[in-house]
Amino acid sequence: LAERVEQELGKATYTRDQQRVYIHLNAGLSADTSIAVNEGVDGVGLYRTEVPFLLQRSFPSEEEQTTQYRSILSIYRDKQVVMRTLDVGGDKPLPYLTIEEDNPFLGWRGIRFTLDHPEIFLIQVRAMLKASIGLENMDILLPMISGIAELDDSIALINRAYHEVAKYAQVHGQTLKRPRLGIMIEVPSILYQLPALRGKVDFISVGSNDLTQYLLAVDRNNARVASVYDALHPAVLHALKQIVETAGSMGIPVSVCGELAGDPIGALLLVGMGYRSLSMNTRNVARIKYLLRHISVLEMEQLSQFALQATFGDEVRDKITAFVDAQG
Ligand code: PEP
Ligand code: MG
Repeated sequence: LAERVEQELGKATYTRDQQRVYIHLNAGLSADTSIAVNEGVDGVGLYRTEVPFLLQRSFPSEEEQTTQYRSILSIYRDKQVVMRTLDVGGDKPLPYLTIEEDNPFLGWRGIRFTLDHPEIFLIQVRAMLKASIGLENMDILLPMISGIAELDDSIALINRAYHEVAKYAQVHGQTLKRPRLGIMIEVPSILYQLPALRGKVDFISVGSNDLTQYLLAVDRNNARVASVYDALHPAVLHALKQIVETAGSMGIPVSVCGELAGDPIGALLLVGMGYRSLSMNTRNVARIKYLLRHISVLEMEQLSQFALQATFGDEVRDKITAFVDAQG
């Protein structure tokens, strides 16, 4: 079976009833960008840019960041790469930046931190844009957006960086393509503001890890409450369904880049709900592709309808595990 699973890698993913599902890679935190996997995915759905920041002893310079981002964009030259702006704070502290807070996950993290430090944000976005000159395969993704003001402020800074780098490109006889812009859907407040995203974003990406943590008010890394952290909790499933429906009605492309997308139960449910783009860690790519190719969208829709009516996450887990086992 392992061999059959491996053979899935090079192929595009179609469900048993021939519906296309796009499989993207989460990259950044692990250094694994092996060519075999690169060929088997449709692009990078989430590049966590924290890495160059975590590896250094101080903030990496614009040049250092440009080099780093360009190497990723070059590896995936013919595919789209979604680069997320710095998402530090919370569980990802920088060694050279002490943030002491009672509630780090509710504190100064993600876009909140970078908007308070526009110089850090501008350097990063300029580095991303410079890296993309001539490659044109980069999208920009903003983490932890909780309201439209944060999005508007980010857009203003991105526009400023764009004009600066466009001039730089022009001096070097090149043109700068404007990247597509997206936001993470991971803070519950934004679920109720999806219509206000119209005209401001080109795509959205669901961060089911944080969305689960914030919907259920449970620290995703605290072992004591690990049993309360349930990505199959009815509230989470209904939120996921609402997002894909609203995005669909607004014509905004949507994908999921949290751990749920790389989990067999999660992937079946998400496709059943209507998602057609999943982004996951390298190690999950082959088995998720294998699974999706052997099950029809109709079956996945039925599973997700069952899940959306369930009262307990465990019911969903049991039902889908039994279904998968029965497939052999
Ligand atoms: C998420 O929150 O689901 C996500 C993909 O981002 P991170 O795990 O980096 O917070
Ligand atoms: Mg997150």
